[in-house]
Amino acid sequence: LEERLVSADKMAMLGQLAAGIAHEINNPIGYVRSNTVVAKEIFNDYQHALDEIGLLCRTAGGKIEAQFEALEKRFSLRESASEILEMFNESHEGIERIIEIVKALRSFSYPSSGKHTQISAVEAMNTVIKLTNNLHRYKNKVNLEVPDKDVYFLGNAGQIQQVLVNFVTNAIYATPEGKSITLKVQKDEKNAMLIVEDEGIGMSKETLDRIFTPFFTTKPPGEGTGLGMSISMTIVEEHNGTINITSEEGKGTRVTVLLPLA
Ligand code: ADP
Repeated sequence: LEERLVSADKMAMLGQLAAGIAHEINNPIGYVRSNTVVAKEIFNDYQHALDEIGLLCRTAGGKIEAQFEALEKRFSLRESASEILEMFNESHEGIERIIEIVKALRSFSYPSSGKHTQISAVEAMNTVIKLTNNLHRYKNKVNLEVPDKDVYFLGNAGQIQQVLVNFVTNAIYATPEGKSITLKVQKDEKNAMLIVEDEGIGMSKETLDRIFTPFFTTKPPGEGTGLGMSISMTIVEEHNGTINITSEEGKGTRVTVLLPLA
């Protein structure tokens, strides 16, 4: 119990830290982002204009063309334009990535806001399937197994939705095309059980040990923030719930959220 309390404390501190960082980063990123967008447009126009001038010169005759080429060489206009354009493209990608992280940090920092209502587990699962539709539509079959009687728990619908979307997104990422993902609703004496099972690559013991550590990811840059599982853990803890994970490399993963029955 003590260990869990310590970890909840640590998560709360991290949440505050995250809120601070998100706040600080958000503003400057906003204007840098719009600057790069405008600058990119300007450089696109600039390159376009160069092409047109070149064409004009060519049609106007060899002499002007030669002069233009000499000028072009001297200032290496084309090179610098495309180099700068490339730099802007790169900055733009970087900024999009930071924005993604800030978004994730934000939800990390306000896990307890919002009111708790009675939530239908079956409805929650159906919504998640819809929300992730464009990720799995052409890739994986998603099955849903529900009991005869729906299961209800208390919680913040938006946050639980976010947790389930994180799990299903991870499952789709880990699962090869054609294999399936199965969502199950079950219950025990005290808890609603929301299960996400995949036939994906599974996890090593090292990954499983670090899965709830903020920013831990095995995904290549640009594809994961490493915040999904730690945010999910914070949210589920706030709901007095738990997350259980079993995984086997090359076989698949099962993630179960237990939330007290309403
Ligand atoms: P991210 O998805 O951005 O990497 P997460 O916190 O959601 O961050 O996940 C952390 C890591 O846990 C992932 O990079 C991946 O290695 C592992 N992981 C999570 N879910 C699964 C899954 N269903 N199958 C295999 N690995 C998983």
